[in-house]
Amino acid sequence: KLDFHPAGRHFLQIPGPSPVPDRILRAMSLPTIDHRGPEFGALGRQVLDGIKKIFKTEQPVIIYPASGTGAWEAALTNTLSAGDTVLMYETGHFATLWKKMAEALGLKPEFLGLPGIEGWRRGVQADLIEERLRKDSGHQIKAVCVVHNETSTGVTSDIAAVRRAIDAAGHPALLLVDTISGLASADYRHDEWGVDVTVSGSQKGLMLPPGISFNAVSKKAIEASKSSRLPKAFWGWNEIIEMNATGYWPYTPNTNLLYGLHEALEMILGEGLDNVFARHERLAEACRQAVTAWGLEIQCADPAVYSPVLTGVMTPAGFDADAIRKVIYENFNMSLGTGLGKMKGGMFRIGHLGEANDLTLMATLAGCEMGLKLAGVKLAGSGVQAAMDNLTAKKNKPALKV
Ligand code: PLP
Repeated sequence: KLDFHPAGRHFLQIPGPSPVPDRILRAMSLPTIDHRGPEFGALGRQVLDGIKKIFKTEQPVIIYPASGTGAWEAALTNTLSAGDTVLMYETGHFATLWKKMAEALGLKPEFLGLPGIEGWRRGVQADLIEERLRKDSGHQIKAVCVVHNETSTGVTSDIAAVRRAIDAAGHPALLLVDTISGLASADYRHDEWGVDVTVSGSQKGLMLPPGISFNAVSKKAIEASKSSRLPKAFWGWNEIIEMNATGYWPYTPNTNLLYGLHEALEMILGEGLDNVFARHERLAEACRQAVTAWGLEIQCADPAVYSPVLTGVMTPAGFDADAIRKVIYENFNMSLGTGLGKMKGGMFRIGHLGEANDLTLMATLAGCEMGLKLAGVKLAGSGVQAAMDNLTAKKNKPALKV
């Protein structure tokens, strides 16, 4: 039993799951229909078609009734064989978990990255990938795996640069990218960037509850799936793609989440993807202004790869970030992201993704500022004021003078 009594709507400001808009909740409340009946086929075709626009691809996108971790596994098992070497890049906790999964599946991951905490503060260094691939003249490396938006740190890597690195090395490895927390919040281009498998999930930029995840594939990836030998049954692409052609799945799909996806696509494509990205950039910049005004350090140390999805805030020495999060949770009914892996206790994460707007960000920052003060952190100044100044300066609609 909680010994405090939160009132009003909970502020879910973790970097996913993000708050689910009322429109989506309502859409999901419709009765579940026969997944082999005529109505379902129309829904299936609409979401399978619409989601391609979000990935910016003309190729099939597979939708699994699973969390993102399932789609990670699908990407590996559909394209690779036991003992294959894969080059994975350490950007943070999620990159580390994907590497552990590769090991568990019997692959041989090589983990590339900058030493210590440095690698968790900067994006993928494409030149290191190029250098390693150039040395692999026998083409032992079968895939390069990178995380686009590293949710544990707030760093968004340059995927086009990774593609260029692979091409510059003249290497045939597949490019597998995790944009579980980047999709529909940060610009992403599956086809243009020559990505072979893009992995994503529902509970971040798509504003859905957790429970569905995606593999966007390329022709080369589908070709690789025909000869790959890692065991796959539930995750196997071929049968799913075949049945998806008419809007159905070989098993019972997640019908109500697909209603939600249909609504989310209407919302995102209605706003326009570029407007969605610009809104995320705008909020992220204001959030960083707040952190800087507090006199705290942003986890991402390279402004070129600041994440539009979340901001990692490093807490000063002597303060446990999780204790600060607890103060904020108990006093202001707001959840912030915990520090993960190497950053446990040393940082918290502010999510500003999905349906976030100026006022939800301001409320979030107010909760952070009050909580930091209550926890005894000496702040250099008001982050709330800095963020308000930043947001109003970027508005261009002065009141009419009478
Ligand atoms: N990869 C990234 C970048 C993530 O942010 C997450 C979850 O937050 C995952 C993978 C794992 O996805 P899930 O928790 O949906 O299985």
